[in-house]
Amino acid sequence: MNGNRRYKLFPAGDVINKKRRRQKMESIWCKTCGREKAPALKGNIETDVAVIGGGMAGILTAWQLEQAGVRTVVLETDRIGGGQTQNTTAKITAQHGMFCHSFIEKKGEDTTRKYAQANKDAVEEYKRIVREKSIACDLKECDSYVYSEDEEKVRREVVAAQSLGLEASFAEQVEIPVSCAGAVRFSSQAKFHPLKFIEALAEHLTIYEDTSVTRVEGHLVKTPCGSVKAGKIVFAVHFPFINFPGMYFARMHQERSYVLALEKAGMVDGMYIGDGENTLSFRQYDRYLLLGGQAHRTGENREGGCYERLKRIAQELYPGSCVAAYWSAQDCITADKVPFIGPYAADCPDWYVATGFQKWGMSSAMVSAMLIRDAVCGIENPYAQVFSPLRFSGEEVPQLMKDGGKAVKGLTKRFFHVPSETISSVERGHGAIVETPQGKAGVYKTEEGTVCQVSAICPHMGCELTWNPDENSWDCPCHGSRFDCEGKLLEGPAQEGIQYDLL
Ligand SMILES: Cc1cc2nc3c(=O)[nH]c(=O)nc-3n(C[C@H](O)[C@H](O)[C@H](O)COP(=O)(O)OP(=O)(O)OC[C@H]3O[C@@H](n4cnc5c(N)ncnc54)[C@H](O)[C@@H]3O)c2cc1C
Repeated sequence: MNGNRRYKLFPAGDVINKKRRRQKMESIWCKTCGREKAPALKGNIETDVAVIGGGMAGILTAWQLEQAGVRTVVLETDRIGGGQTQNTTAKITAQHGMFCHSFIEKKGEDTTRKYAQANKDAVEEYKRIVREKSIACDLKECDSYVYSEDEEKVRREVVAAQSLGLEASFAEQVEIPVSCAGAVRFSSQAKFHPLKFIEALAEHLTIYEDTSVTRVEGHLVKTPCGSVKAGKIVFAVHFPFINFPGMYFARMHQERSYVLALEKAGMVDGMYIGDGENTLSFRQYDRYLLLGGQAHRTGENREGGCYERLKRIAQELYPGSCVAAYWSAQDCITADKVPFIGPYAADCPDWYVATGFQKWGMSSAMVSAMLIRDAVCGIENPYAQVFSPLRFSGEEVPQLMKDGGKAVKGLTKRFFHVPSETISSVERGHGAIVETPQGKAGVYKTEEGTVCQVSAICPHMGCELTWNPDENSWDCPCHGSRFDCEGKLLEGPAQEGIQYDLL
C-alpha cells in the first residue's frame, strides 16, 4: 500500500472516546493517498465546459469530455475527491441492492434493462481506463453479493437479473459471518482505491481547487477569485445548490451511513451488502475489512451512537478484531431510486446535473460522465431517458410526499418547538438546541466547558438543525446540510456556514 501509515488500533468493543474520535475520523483512502493542491482560479477564463465539483462524478465527467476533445475545467471548493468520494467504500458494481425484480415491476422491463446495462457498461469502463492507462489504484475484479434471509426473494432476484442479461447466480454460502438463506451473486464487478484513481486522472485535467462557485448566471460561473465563461456547465456538486429551477431540494433527501476499518477480522474476497433496512456492507481493502451500516436520514440521529452500535456488531461478528479507522458519509436518495443525470431543468439547455446516486455513486458517476459527454457532444445515448432529471412518474409521489412532510416538519419545528434544555443543563461534550434571551440557539459544550453557540437555523431553506453526537456537528433534517460545532459549513446544499459565538 503506497504511503501507508500505521494506525493505532483499539478493540472493536472499546468505547470511542473524544480523543480517539479526533485522531481517527479519516477514511483509509485519505490516509493512504495525498497530492499537492492545484492552484485556485485567478481572473476570468473561457472554456467549452465548466464542471462544478471535483468528486468522482465531476472528475470522471471532465475526463470523458477531455477524451472526446472538449476543453473542460473543474472548479472545486476544497480538494478534489474531498467530498463524499473520500468516504465511500468504493465498490464498483452494477448490483445496486436487490433492484432487478422491483424495478421491473415498477418501471417495466425496458427501463430496468437500460438502467442495468448503463451500470454494467460503467463497471467495464472503469476496468478499461485502469487497464489502458495503467493506473495504480489497487483495482481488483471480484464478485458482489446481496444476501438475505429470504431464499425465495434471492432466487426471484437471480431470475430477474438473468432476464436482463446480467451475469447473476444464486450463492448458497457467503464468506461473512451473517445469517442468510443465500445471496444473489454478480460476477466480475470490481473494487479499488477511489482517491488513487481520481488523482491519476487529475494529472490530465485542468483543475482549480480552493475555488468555490458562488453564482451561476447563464453561461457565466462566478467564484470569489474569478469567473469562467463556458458553453456548457455541469453541476457535479453532490447536492445541487441552485434551488430554482430544478427544485432538487424537493426531490431528494440525504442519508448517512457509517464505516469501520477493521484489522484482525479475516479476509473477504467478495463485496457484500444485506437486503432491506438496517443492512450491513462488507469489503476488503488490503488488511482492512470495511464494515458499513447504521444508515439513517441525515438529521435524524439515533440514541446510543451509530459508531458504538456498529462497533458492537463488529465485536459480535469478528471477536478480537480491532478498529483501525472509522468515518461516515452521506448520499442523495431520489424518490424513484434512480439518479438524476442530464439537463438541469427544461429551461436550462446548457446546464447539466449529476446527483441522487443512492449510495451507488461509483458506477453512477461513470454513467453520469458518459451520458453528459454524449449530451455535450450531440451523440444520442440509449440510456439518457432513464436517468433524465426531467422525468416524472406517479411512482415518485408517495416518497415525494414523505420528503415534503419531513421538510415541513423541519421548518415548523423552528417556530413551534420549545427546547427543554438551557445552556447550563447541556453536559460537557454534548450539544443541544436551547432557549436564550435572543431566541433559540444551538449550543455545544466542549469537554473543557467552553460554550460554542451557533444559529440553529439552516441557511439553505430555514429548517431547524439537530445535533449529531457521532460527528459533533449540526445537521439539517430537511435537505442534509451539515455544519461543525463552530458553524463552519461541512456539506451542502447550503453554501455558507452558520453564525457562531464563543460564550
Ligand atoms: C457510507 C457510504 C459508502 C458508500 N460506498 C459506496 C460504494 O461502495 N460504491 C458506490 O458505488 N457508491 C458508494 N457510496 C456512494 C458514493 O460514495 C457517492 O455517491 C459518490 O462518492 C458521490 O460522488 P460525487 O462526485 O457526486 O460527490 P462528492 O464526492 O461529494 O463531490 C462533490 C464535490 O463538489 C464540491 N462542491 C460542492 N459545492 C461546490 C461549489 N459551490 N463550488 C465548487 N465545488 C463544490 C465538493 O467540495 C465536492 O468535492 C457510498 C456512500 C456512503 C454514504
